Order: sequence, then C-alpha cells, then structure tokens
Amino acid sequence: MDAVSRLWRGCAAVWSPARMWLSLVMGARFSTSLAHLGPPMTRDPGGRGVHWVFLGCPGVGKGTYASRLSQLLGVPHISTGDLVREELASSGPLAQQLAGIVNHGQLVSDEIIMSLLIKRLEHGATKAESGSILDGFPRTIRQAEILEGVTEIDLVINLKLREDALLAKCLGRRICSHCGGNYNVASVNIKGENGRPDFIMAPLLPPADCASKLVTRVDDTEEVVKERLQIYNEMSKPVEEFYRARGKLLEFDLPGGIPESWPKLLQALNLVDHDDKQSASA
Ligand SMILES: [Zn+2]
Repeated sequence: MDAVSRLWRGCAAVWSPARMWLSLVMGARFSTSLAHLGPPMTRDPGGRGVHWVFLGCPGVGKGTYASRLSQLLGVPHISTGDLVREELASSGPLAQQLAGIVNHGQLVSDEIIMSLLIKRLEHGATKAESGSILDGFPRTIRQAEILEGVTEIDLVINLKLREDALLAKCLGRRICSHCGGNYNVASVNIKGENGRPDFIMAPLLPPADCASKLVTRVDDTEEVVKERLQIYNEMSKPVEEFYRARGKLLEFDLPGGIPESWPKLLQALNLVDHDDKQSASA
C-alpha cells in the first residue's frame, strides 16, 4: 500500500461511515426533485451532516451555491481550488512543489489534491466538524473511486447553465485592480420560448469607487472560455456517469441568476422548510 492509500485509509476513520439520510433511499431513482424524501435534517439522527459534491463547469457559480448551502446546513464548504491557493500562500511542505506546477500551467496531480483534502478533513475532525460539501472534487473517475472508498457520498449536484448565458457571464467578469473585488457586468435577459419564463441574470455591478478601476482577466476571452468549457465537458462526463450509475446524480438546470435559482435549488433539495426556519431564527 502506498503512502496515499494509507492516508486515505486513515481518513476513513475521520469521516464516519454512519448512515446518512439519503443513503436510506439511495435505491430509489430521482432525477430533478427530492421533494418526496422529507426534510433532510430530520433524517440525520447520527448527526453525520450531509456529504455532498458539487459538479459544474467553471463560471457556473457552484462555489456560490455550495457556500450558501454550507452556511444553511452548518457543514464545511471544501473547495479544492481554495485548498491549493491556501497551500500556495503558506509555507507548507507542498507549497514549493505546487508553485512549480502552477507556474508551468500544469494540472495539480490527484496525489497532491488528495493529500490537501486529507489534511483539511483531519483538521476538521479536530474541530468536530460533521459532513462536507465538496467543490472541485472529484474531477476524475480515479478521484471518485478513491473518495468512494473513504466515505459515502450522499448526493452529487450537477449544476448546469445554458451555454449562451454561461458565455456571457464568463465574458462579463471584471476585477477591481485596486481592491481585488469581483464583479460581473453582463446582464443576461433571454426571452422565454414556448411559454417558458424569461431567463434573467442580473449584473453584479461595482460600487462607484471600483467602477473606474475594473479590469478583465487575460484568460476571459471568448476563445479561451469556449475551450475551457469543452475541456470541462469532456473531463466531467465520466464522473457524471459514475454517479448517475449509482443513482446519486441530481441534475439541476439553473433557471437564472441567484434570486431565480436559489429558491428552486432549495426546492429540488427539499430544504425549503430548513431555509424558513433559519430565516425565522435569524
Ligand atoms: Zn475596488
């Protein structure tokens, strides 16, 4: 057994294999709604928390939705992109190796991603965290298989956005060169066809102080965005199929921006009551 496998075995103890609400019904097929399942939190007697994965192409907003759900459910949002950035900014053992990989524009290997993830989970275990919402992982079948040996993922949410809107949003991204704030100047308003509602995504405009200092990332050109999308689609299909075959994939077509999508996502996840309770106690 190599070092990585040993680490993963060790990690199994960190992630308790206790049953989770969705595992009770995993035999049942579902495609767009979990409304028949009852409130997830009441099906979590062991307090294991949800073990969810977010899939979705770059720019779809999965970090935003994963982060909102993590706050709502009180489980950590673990983004492998953040883990890589944090390690790079640290003086940790992998920082130098990572810098070399990233500076050469190479993909970070499964082994490095796994060791960062394990470190993060072990750190969480010391703080008695329960559950997790993973974002950016697994990226490959191999990662998905390893993850399966470590913990039972309850649900994989595949966020999808119509391509014209996605492209507009990716091309509309702006950063404030002064404070680093992220904005989006694209205003998407696509007329609904065949009686369907219009597709609306409002821009995220900067405050006056930032407005004159906006810059576009060099890699946010139409050509690069389309290529990024194509690569993502090719890489993600096997991972989607992996979870689809296990009855764990929830396909979710974003119906617009956050105001349009968030309530629908909660509905699909059967978390509407949960959100109401949170709002009432806030
Ligand atoms: Zn600014």
